[in-house]
Amino acid sequence: MSEAPKSAAAPAAPAAPKAAGRAGRNTELPEHLKSYKGVWVFIEHDRGHVNPVSWELMGEARKLADKLQVDVSGVLLGGPDEPLDAYAAEAYSYGADRCYIMRDAVLKGYRNEPFTKGLTDLVNKHQPEIMLLGATTMGRDLAGSVATTLGTGLTADCTELNIDGRALAATRPTFGGSLLCTIMTLAYRPQMATVRPRVMPMPRRDETRRGEIVEMALGMVETDIVTKLLEFIPDANRNTINLAYADIVISGGKGLKNADNFKLVWELARVLGAEVGATRAVVQAGWTEAERQVGQTGKTVRPKLYIAAGISGAIQHRVGMEGSDIIVAINTDAYAPIFDFAHYGIVGNAMQVLPVLTQAFRSHFDKRIRKIA
Ligand SMILES: Cc1cc2nc3c(=O)[nH]c(=O)nc-3n(C[C@H](O)[C@H](O)[C@H](O)COP(=O)(O)OP(=O)(O)OC[C@H]3O[C@@H](n4cnc5c(N)ncnc54)[C@H](O)[C@@H]3O)c2cc1C
Repeated sequence: MSEAPKSAAAPAAPAAPKAAGRAGRNTELPEHLKSYKGVWVFIEHDRGHVNPVSWELMGEARKLADKLQVDVSGVLLGGPDEPLDAYAAEAYSYGADRCYIMRDAVLKGYRNEPFTKGLTDLVNKHQPEIMLLGATTMGRDLAGSVATTLGTGLTADCTELNIDGRALAATRPTFGGSLLCTIMTLAYRPQMATVRPRVMPMPRRDETRRGEIVEMALGMVETDIVTKLLEFIPDANRNTINLAYADIVISGGKGLKNADNFKLVWELARVLGAEVGATRAVVQAGWTEAERQVGQTGKTVRPKLYIAAGISGAIQHRVGMEGSDIIVAINTDAYAPIFDFAHYGIVGNAMQVLPVLTQAFRSHFDKRIRKIA
């Protein structure tokens, strides 16, 4: 057997190329995190009302938990005089098996510090594998600080949640809404996600469902907290526009040409008892308030009826309204993208079609009122 002279040796095989962006990435779940089990929903409440997004998330949590064959738990933090037990009973009817409750005077009214401590303490003690929060002002603030305190991953503004293997596959728009990406937190627990109101459907209530309550103390005093809650000043505008939960939404787009024509949308909305929505182009033109914008950077709506007048159907608008039961589009261009997903289409000039619809509905309702009288 002869050994090849060193000079004639075959060149060393090149090192296997590293996958882009993966250098040092840890995809294995460490042993101590393998015991994390169950799906949690942070139940957001404020001055006597639970934000409905919490129940929408409860429905999603139930589906995820059934796939993983684990329990669903709600988390309630609040003051000693707040009706947390009543909220827990509601949580069971929407799919929760258990509620973790923390009652403390410092938890009355949302503040980041005590809520972050409360939620992280609960997570460290009871170890959920998934935690969902509403992508509301409160939910976004809390989710970010809890995720950074726990050193885990958070996927914000998800539009779809699924299970891939045992991991949460959280899908959300990216690149300005032109692509969807699915993000997984493989090596950390819990896997956290926020979802905007109305992105997920409201689950059915089952009043017969019951659950258990697990209480835990916060262990924090007022002097530990730098933020003080002095007064609550409601935003008058915010409380009058109920776009996300409206049954009927009439939206106008740039095809209406000017602010004066946009009033035609209001007239139809008034007759139908509907809310008024708009595209970003309309909001940017100053024809209506920013709170009425539907879409990726506006509100998500899920009405029984959505009428889109003079709206092209760009993806950033579509993601905010495609969950509507019935979509009716009015557009002069028969090839406008909105006709790809509208249930009914009217190819025509919105300035002519809207007044005709308004008049037709007005006389229909007048006839019904006369019949009843
Ligand atoms: C990062 C990012 C985020 C965004 N977020 C949002 C968002 O949240 N919401 C949103 O809406 N957009 C959003 N956009 C903007 C979006 O891409 C579109 O530009 C916008 O939705 C278009 O608005 P439009 O349909 O009113 O106007 P256009 O695209 O100009 O469409 C007008 C439509 O009206 C039709 N038309 C013209 N004349 C008439 C007539 N007389 N009668 C009937 N129809 C007529 C035309 O055929 C056309 O289809 C975002 C964009 C980016 C990049």
